[in-house]
Amino acid sequence: MTTSDDKQAWSARKSAELYGIDEWGSGYFGVSPEGEVVVRAPHNGEPGAAVSLMDIARGLQQRGLDMPILLRMENLVDGRLTALNESFADAIKSAGYQGEYRGAFPIKVNQQSHVVAEIARFGERYNHGLEAGSKAELMIAISTLQNRESLIICNGYKDAEFIDLGLQARKLGFKCFFVLETPAEVPLIIERSRLLGVDPLIGARLKLSTKVEGHWSEDSGDRSLFGLTAIQLVSVVDELREAGLLHCFQLLHFHLGSQIPNIRSIRSGVLEACRYYIDLVAEGVPLGYLDLGGGLAIDYDGTSSNSGHSRNYSVQEYCVDVVEAIQQSLDAHDIPHPVIVTESGRATVAHTAVLLFNVLDVGHFEPGPLPEELPEGSHDQLVNLWHAIRVITPESLQECYNDVIYYRDQIRDLFHRGDINLRMRAMGENLYLAGLQKIAGLLPQMKRIPAELETLPQQLADIYYGNFSVFQSLPDSWAIDQVFPVMPIHRLKEEPSRQAIIADLTCDCDGKLDRFAGPEGEAQTLSVHPVNHGEEYYMGVFLVGAYQETLGDLHNLFGDTNVASVRINPDGGMDFVHELHGDSISDVLSYVEYDPQAMFKQFRATAEQAVRDGRISVSERQAMLAAFTESLRGYTYFER
Ligand SMILES: *Cc1c(COP(=O)(O)O)cnc(C)c1O
Repeated sequence: MTTSDDKQAWSARKSAELYGIDEWGSGYFGVSPEGEVVVRAPHNGEPGAAVSLMDIARGLQQRGLDMPILLRMENLVDGRLTALNESFADAIKSAGYQGEYRGAFPIKVNQQSHVVAEIARFGERYNHGLEAGSKAELMIAISTLQNRESLIICNGYKDAEFIDLGLQARKLGFKCFFVLETPAEVPLIIERSRLLGVDPLIGARLKLSTKVEGHWSEDSGDRSLFGLTAIQLVSVVDELREAGLLHCFQLLHFHLGSQIPNIRSIRSGVLEACRYYIDLVAEGVPLGYLDLGGGLAIDYDGTSSNSGHSRNYSVQEYCVDVVEAIQQSLDAHDIPHPVIVTESGRATVAHTAVLLFNVLDVGHFEPGPLPEELPEGSHDQLVNLWHAIRVITPESLQECYNDVIYYRDQIRDLFHRGDINLRMRAMGENLYLAGLQKIAGLLPQMKRIPAELETLPQQLADIYYGNFSVFQSLPDSWAIDQVFPVMPIHRLKEEPSRQAIIADLTCDCDGKLDRFAGPEGEAQTLSVHPVNHGEEYYMGVFLVGAYQETLGDLHNLFGDTNVASVRINPDGGMDFVHELHGDSISDVLSYVEYDPQAMFKQFRATAEQAVRDGRISVSERQAMLAAFTESLRGYTYFER
């Protein structure tokens, strides 16, 4: 329990520290003195006004968008693109590097048309291009990019149609590269380019032996699925030379995996790639571009460490290391500095979206009031448990814990055998919870907490039921145990006195968030405020702009959430630039091949029959049909 003095002592500042927002927020997010999460939207590289997410949420609700909402902030796309390009420009300038930087945003990281359009628009001044891994993505690239200096990088297996599309883009003036994933693509590219009468731009993907740590370590090393081996590379050179197309081979590409936590792996990868670059140039290949792929990581847990959810380097350090490594390697061989290309996806868009949701209900694991004494005739084991709880002391917590568990099990057995009734069992469970709570309350006094008792706070944590679906909106949390920053977006002047895990609406045991970035490393519970009766409690999951949208699925038929894009103006005002209502129930039903029209007809026939049978009146029938239609049109999430 907190006294009112403790509440006084708590501050918005302390909340900011507790949730680590200054670490993972990268300057874009913070806590206002009023205790609300604010977004600081950059303008042309300058930090802009701070706007409360609560104000944005209110504005959206007034416009008919209910929770959950995926909120995108345009300025952050601008801010991230600016940061990446300016950091490379700075590193290039201070090193005296002779080449330039050209980014290419990998469309797969967020294919939403609004996002790709913003990237093209804000990236224009930096000639920032796009990376496409399929025909569909290439079609997005050529219909979105206006700037002919920007690169289009085509990765992935390419059939004749894909290649024709890329060659047509070449005819239209796009700098469109085919990156060879396998030697099998070479004859096809040669054939199609002869047929269409245009020279291709060719790159080759290397299979490096540099191994990286983190979740995507499989993308690197000898057994990685992609890229050409040294043997294959040599035969590609010969084949292109033979075909008279060696002058088209201008780019060398590698991709060590996403979210590379350790800068040393990035450096090793660049150095290894430079060895290939140098020797290919010696072979007469007119290389001019070195493409590092993705991998630039995000500090999801705010630890700035080489843990899988973080990284031990900044964007600036990444740029400086890359530029220096290439420069030093090539200078030793008098080879001109290449254009540096990166396909940074996560680092470009992760910050730009927040999932906002409200809490619908809270489950507690707290005992009800304990009776003054046990009722007459209570079973011995209940009496034993009652006594065991009274004698709990800080010196004997493990022993007391053992006793509490033992008597609880005895009581459960008695119930199974029919020796005690349901009310007695309930009383036993209540005593048991009281015992656990008492032990948990004394744990902080122990010097060394026994392993068995370590998970006690987690076992007793509240369950906050959030109005969202992990499967739809945070698939990486479920699929690869990705940690995302989560926190309440208001009431941050109050001490968050409860510990909780967050469950979603699916009632699936995987539909939950129970790994959090805490001030002392990863935590199994999150500090939250008690939900006030009759008041909404709003939370946000941050850094969800990369990879989460199209990987999401329709578990329990929870569909796409409402989406809103805002642009924040320098004076702190904002424009709601794009609002998209999420899937209706009718939408998600048709995704799985139901025909909502036919469902309605069937339902109407059933209701008509009920009228004929005298079970309902005609006006009841009308009301039911209206409600059915209304539901088909409604949001798939919980509506108040
Ligand atoms: C996925 C992918 C990327 C993007 O990686 P990030 O770590 O998100 O920057 C870039 N290039 C290729 C080839 C990829 O497969």
